[in-house]
Amino acid sequence: MTTSSKRIGILGGTFDPVHFGHLRPAIELLENNKLDRLHLVPNHRPAHRDKPHASTVQRLEMLTLATDSVEGLIIDPREAERDKPSYTFDTLQELHLENPQAILIFCMGQDAFDQFESWHRWQEILELANIVVMDRPDAELGTWAKSLITRQGEKVGAMASAKAGAIECQHVTQLAISATNIRKRCSDGTSLRFLMPEVVRQYIIEHRLYQ
Ligand code: ATP
Repeated sequence: MTTSSKRIGILGGTFDPVHFGHLRPAIELLENNKLDRLHLVPNHRPAHRDKPHASTVQRLEMLTLATDSVEGLIIDPREAERDKPSYTFDTLQELHLENPQAILIFCMGQDAFDQFESWHRWQEILELANIVVMDRPDAELGTWAKSLITRQGEKVGAMASAKAGAIECQHVTQLAISATNIRKRCSDGTSLRFLMPEVVRQYIIEHRLYQ
């Protein structure tokens, strides 16, 4: 790593809706990995799960409201602008072409990393970026994911010096919040308070989302 290399983090997801379980870890990822910026990239047509409930525009609007003026957090709409399945490989390749000197650090929760084996061109993702796996309440890594971490760790060395291919598990503040539970609360009519920024709660109510 040269001292001038920018360190760009990427946190992909459905963000349906964004909540504090995304936002607090995002700040810690920025700090812990000395990132110049962290791109929050909502998927448009998720490759590994059902169609989101809120529209892509609504999910982008909620993310924008949630992160307004938070230094270092960038809402990146690139997957919304692609009318094809939202593959992380394509996003990382684009970011690499735009920032050829930068070190890309793709961040995901344990539950997401546990499915990584099924991701489109996952081996090539490891040639484009380092990966941070953040711990998450009630999530555990299976044998395949654990052995990949061991293998990449041994092969490439520490995250601090690798351009790509290193995988590191990191602790973040544990918040047992999920978008699934929030959507269930909306349909049950129970309170959403203190699970997400107040502006996002207001947006959900105003737009009658997830009912
Ligand atoms: P859903 O309940 O709809 O599956 P989610 O709450 O898991 O949604 P996603 O948008 O799918 O949210 O998550 C985006 C990324 O953030 C994933 O890598 C996921 O593992 C991570 N993430 C989500 N919630 C948390 C949390 N509470 N703590 C740590 N990581 C999280």
